[in-house]
Amino acid sequence: KEIKQAEFIISNTDYKKSPEPNLPEYAFIGRSNVGKSSLINMLAGRKSLAKTSGRPGKTQLINHFLMDKRWYLVDLPGYGYAKVSKKAQAEWGSMISEYLKNRENLVCVFVLIDSRLEPQKADLEFINFVGANQLPIAFIFTKADKQSINKTQKVISAYKKTLKASWEEFPPHFISSATSGAGKNEVLGFIEQLNDA
Ligand code: GDP
Repeated sequence: KEIKQAEFIISNTDYKKSPEPNLPEYAFIGRSNVGKSSLINMLAGRKSLAKTSGRPGKTQLINHFLMDKRWYLVDLPGYGYAKVSKKAQAEWGSMISEYLKNRENLVCVFVLIDSRLEPQKADLEFINFVGANQLPIAFIFTKADKQSINKTQKVISAYKKTLKASWEEFPPHFISSATSGAGKNEVLGFIEQLNDA
């Protein structure tokens, strides 16, 4: 699958300045360095649509991209930076929760998870926040090329086990590699399906 046209629309700190909510929207978020920019560029088939490795301390923005004039891809600022002030964390928190709670055309939140790491507190907290707000969620286990599929499956199993108590069903999930292109067709196919639903 290929995206034919990917167009940057706007960056905001206030979700209210987002484009008209007249197309389905998909948000991408994860811990800093999880490979979010690389994944977005892979999905879009572009080298530098999303800027890689945002420095902590840099303004954290909600970035809207229009894909094939059909749906919005939203690049949300990540969490879990080591050196972020309490104030910046609070700002991130209110910006993201306002966006997630109020963006009416939001169809699914893709949470990116490093496939090499056992469940991390920051990820679980964010996942449970999305769940508590009853927003549709899907997981993308990134950087899968860095280890065997067996190890990735073990990490996914650990997430299943951890979320079992609080989640009725394990959310849809994908395994990706920006290096090999793995997961691209699956994620784009999933989005297409939801767009057509
Ligand atoms: P972001 O901070 O979440 O946007 O992460 P980036 O996309 O900037 O990636 C962080 C680092 O991980 C960079 O050095 C990337 O080259 C590397 N990286 C990202 N995705 C992959 C992947 O799928 N495979 C490998 N091997 N490296 C990756």
